[in-house]
Amino acid sequence: MKTYGRFPLTLVRGAGSRVWDDQGKEYLDCVAGIATCTLGHAHPAMVQAVTQQMSTLAHVSNLYYIPQQGDLATWLIENSCADKAFFCNSGAEANEGAIKLARKYGHTRLGIENPVIITAKASFHGRTLAAVTATGQPKYHKNFAPLVPGFAYAAYNDIAALESTIAELEQDGPQVAAIMLEPLQGEGGVNPGDRAYFQRVREICDAKKILLIMDEVQVGMGRSGKIWGHQTLGVEPDVFTSAKGLGGGVPIGALLTKDYCAVLEPGDHASTFGGNPFVCAVSLAVCRTIEQEHLLANVQARGEQLRAGLAAVAAKYPNVIDHVRGWGLINGAVIREDAEMTAIEVVKRAMNDGLLLVPAGPKVVRFVPPLVITAAEIDEAVEKFDRALAGG
Ligand SMILES: *Cc1c(COP(=O)(O)O)cnc(C)c1O
Repeated sequence: MKTYGRFPLTLVRGAGSRVWDDQGKEYLDCVAGIATCTLGHAHPAMVQAVTQQMSTLAHVSNLYYIPQQGDLATWLIENSCADKAFFCNSGAEANEGAIKLARKYGHTRLGIENPVIITAKASFHGRTLAAVTATGQPKYHKNFAPLVPGFAYAAYNDIAALESTIAELEQDGPQVAAIMLEPLQGEGGVNPGDRAYFQRVREICDAKKILLIMDEVQVGMGRSGKIWGHQTLGVEPDVFTSAKGLGGGVPIGALLTKDYCAVLEPGDHASTFGGNPFVCAVSLAVCRTIEQEHLLANVQARGEQLRAGLAAVAAKYPNVIDHVRGWGLINGAVIREDAEMTAIEVVKRAMNDGLLLVPAGPKVVRFVPPLVITAAEIDEAVEKFDRALAGG
C-alpha cells in the first residue's frame, strides 16, 4: 500500500552481521532489522530452534497451556524485576496491553473514572491507534483524528514539566493512572534517559501509587549493555514491554508486570498468535544464546569501541557532527542543526559503500548492529562512516 518510503535495495541473504543484496553485493548490517536481529542473521541456535519447533508443533492457541511460553516467561521473570508475562506479536501490541492494564488499574485500584496516561514528547510507542496516541510526536498523529482520549504529554528528562503536567491534570482530584516512558528514546533520536530524572519519576509514582510503565521495545533484550534499559538507569518499573530484539527476527512482543499490578484477568485481554510454541521456542533460544555467548559483555565492549570511534570521526567533521550519544549497541551520531547534511544523506552514502545505517529523525544517524558484532566489524563501520562524511 505504499506505506513505506523504501531504499532501493533488496536483501536476499545474511550471515552474522553481514547481508547480501540480489546483485551479490555485501553490506555490514548496523540496522539489524531496526534493532531486532539480536543474534545477527542465520545464527545456528535460531536455525536449530526454528527447525526443531516447526517440525514438532508451531501453533495451538492460548486455549491450552504452552510449555515453551511458560519457559520463556520464566526466563524473562528470572532476568528482570517482573513477576508475570503476557505474550503478543509486536511492540505496539505490547504497549496496547500496557495501556489497557494501566486503565484497569486506574479504574479498579485508584477509583479514577477517566484515567490519563502521561507519556513523553518525542517518544515513540507504535502505530496502532492507542500506541500512536501515546507517541508524543504530532507528525505521527496527522490525519488520524479522532485520537484515543486519556493521554497527556510532557517533555522528556524534564521533572518540572512532568510535575506541572500532573498538577494541571489533577486540579480537581486524581486523574493520572500511569507514566509511560522509554528508558532511551530510540525513534525520537537515540536520546538516553537521565538517571536523576527517572529516579524522581519513580518517587512520584510511588507517592501517588500510579504505575511507571517503561517501553523497552527497542532498548531491552541486551541492547543497552544490560538485559533491560531500566537496569542501566537504576530504576524498576511496575510494568514494561518488549518486542523487537526479543524474538531475534520472529514476531513476538511481551507485556511484563509486577504481581501487585497484574490486574488483567481471564477474558480481559488476548492474542490468537500470542506466545505460540514456535515464537517462544525461538525467543528462548535468543535469550539463552545471550547468556551462553556472554553477549552483554560484547555489547558493552563493542559499544565503547563504537562510541570512541564515532567520536573521533565527529572531531574530524566539527561542522557536521555535533556529538555522539547512546548506550551499549544503540548509538546515534547527532548532526548539527545548522549543518546542511541530513541523516538520510549519510545513510545513503554509507549504503553505497556497503554499510547499512538507519536515521532516527532528520538529524540523527543511528547504529543498532546485531549484538554479536565483532571488534573488526566495528572498526569497519567507523571507517565507512568516516568515508560517508568525507564524501560530501
Ligand atoms: C519499534 C518500537 C515500537 C513499536 O514496535 P512494533 O513492533 O513496530 O509495533 C514501540 N516502542 C518502541 C520504543 C519502539 O522502538
